[in-house]
Amino acid sequence: MSDAREQEQHPVESAYHARLPIGERMDATALTEGLPWAFEQITMRPLEPMLVPEQPRGGEVDPQSCNTCKPSPHIIWQDEHWKVSAGWEFSGLPFLGAIAPREHWLLENAPHEVLAAYGPLMQRISQAVKSIPGVARCHFARWNDGSAHLHLWALARPAGMMQGRGAALAFWDDMLPPIPVEMGEEHLRIVADALAAGGGETFPHR
Ligand SMILES: [Zn+2]
Repeated sequence: MSDAREQEQHPVESAYHARLPIGERMDATALTEGLPWAFEQITMRPLEPMLVPEQPRGGEVDPQSCNTCKPSPHIIWQDEHWKVSAGWEFSGLPFLGAIAPREHWLLENAPHEVLAAYGPLMQRISQAVKSIPGVARCHFARWNDGSAHLHLWALARPAGMMQGRGAALAFWDDMLPPIPVEMGEEHLRIVADALAAGGGETFPHR
C-alpha cells in the first residue's frame, strides 16, 4: 500500500506554472505599498519549485488520526454541527479561534445542512468576539492547508488598530506582545458565554 508520502514528487505541469520564475526572488513592493500601514520592508524567499503530489494534510490519509476530531479542553463552545476552539497558547490578538464542524467533514464533502448552519453562526461569532472589551471587529479566514478537517479562523481586531486592517491582522498576532493567561481565559469565557446565549454548550471537555 502506498500513499502520497511515498510517491516521488514532480513539478506541476500547467500553463500557469510554466511561466513562473522558479528560483527567483520576487519584489515585495506590492506588499509594502499595498499594506503600507503594516509593512515597511519585506524580503521574499526565492520562489521554490511547485511539486506534486503535495504532502498530505493532517487527517487526510487517516481521518482516525485527525486532531481536530479529538475531544479537547480547548473547545470553548459547540452545538449540534459546529465547534469553536481557542486558547492553545495565548498570542498577541485579543482572541483567535478556530471554527470547525463537529464531524470530520472537508469543505468538499460537508453536508449542506452543516454548511447552511455556518451562516447564522458566523454572525453570532462576530458579535461574540466584538463583545470582548477593546475589540472593534472580527475577521474570518479559511485556508485549510494544515489540517484536512474543514476549519475557519476568527481573529479579533483591536479597536483603533488601523495597522491591523485586512490580511495584515494575522501577521500581527505573532508580533504583538502575548496577552496574559488570565486575560486570555477571560476572553475565551466572554466569547463562549456569548455564543451559548444563542444555543449550544460551553467548554464541553473541561
Ligand atoms: Zn477531523
